[in-house]
Amino acid sequence: MEHSKLLYALAVLAVAQLGASYYMYDKITTLNTANIETSNILTGLQTDVTNNTETTEQRIIELSDSIYAGQQDVEDIQDALKKYDRSFDKLTDSVDDLEKLSTTDPELLQKYSKVYFLNEHYAPADLTALDDKYIYDNGKEVSISSEVWPYLEDLLDEARDDRVDILVLSGYRSYDEQSTLKGMYTSTYGVGANTFSADQGYSEHQLGTTVDFTVTGLNGALDGFENTEAYNWLLKNAYKYGFTMSYPEGNEYYEYEPWHWRFVGKDLARYLFKNDEYFYDLEQREIDTYLIELFD
Ligand SMILES: [Zn+2]
Repeated sequence: MEHSKLLYALAVLAVAQLGASYYMYDKITTLNTANIETSNILTGLQTDVTNNTETTEQRIIELSDSIYAGQQDVEDIQDALKKYDRSFDKLTDSVDDLEKLSTTDPELLQKYSKVYFLNEHYAPADLTALDDKYIYDNGKEVSISSEVWPYLEDLLDEARDDRVDILVLSGYRSYDEQSTLKGMYTSTYGVGANTFSADQGYSEHQLGTTVDFTVTGLNGALDGFENTEAYNWLLKNAYKYGFTMSYPEGNEYYEYEPWHWRFVGKDLARYLFKNDEYFYDLEQREIDTYLIELFD
């Protein structure tokens, strides 16, 4: 019996061992299964992360692209706005130019010759009477276009500052006044009045932009003006005030009239002075390009 008890005990132990082993095996299997699941989840997560990262990167690239495209658009819009601004400025300038041109009398830069006179009914829009201190004959009223007067005043004042004796003998003359004057000369001197210095550029006087100068020493005469200091001063300086001598020595249009100066605007006068040219030698269409800046 002792032996069978031992056998029994051994059998019980073996069963217990088996049971424990099985239990352990079961636990390990469960653990393995859990590990595999975890691993799968991890792999899945990694895949998700990878996919998400790729998607996110893709989205970032797309976003950058669209931001860049947006910036391009903004630049394009800015460029377009600048162009619009420029063309608007140009348009505004053109409108200003047109307005300026429409208010500037084209006759003021018209060439008048022996065959082309100003209309007898023409009169300047506004006239200013000169102060006595600028006039040779104080009993006489001398006037000039109000638009031209500031330029003439500057010229006369500057000559005074330079201690040069220059006086205005005549300015604006109406068609009727000129006819009377011419008639007077003609009755005194006959047809010779047409050729001697009876100031034939009368159309220019009718414009109100033209003056005849003299000096005290000439006693109101025109002849001899070319030998005066005043004449030399005008040759050097008149252009700065927009004046030019209409009929220089040797011109084909009229007698030499060194005393007779016409306002043509500073730009044109400067051009003529610098290039040693004369108003009547230019083409009318070239002269007309200066009309817009006549009073600049
Ligand atoms: Zn004159």
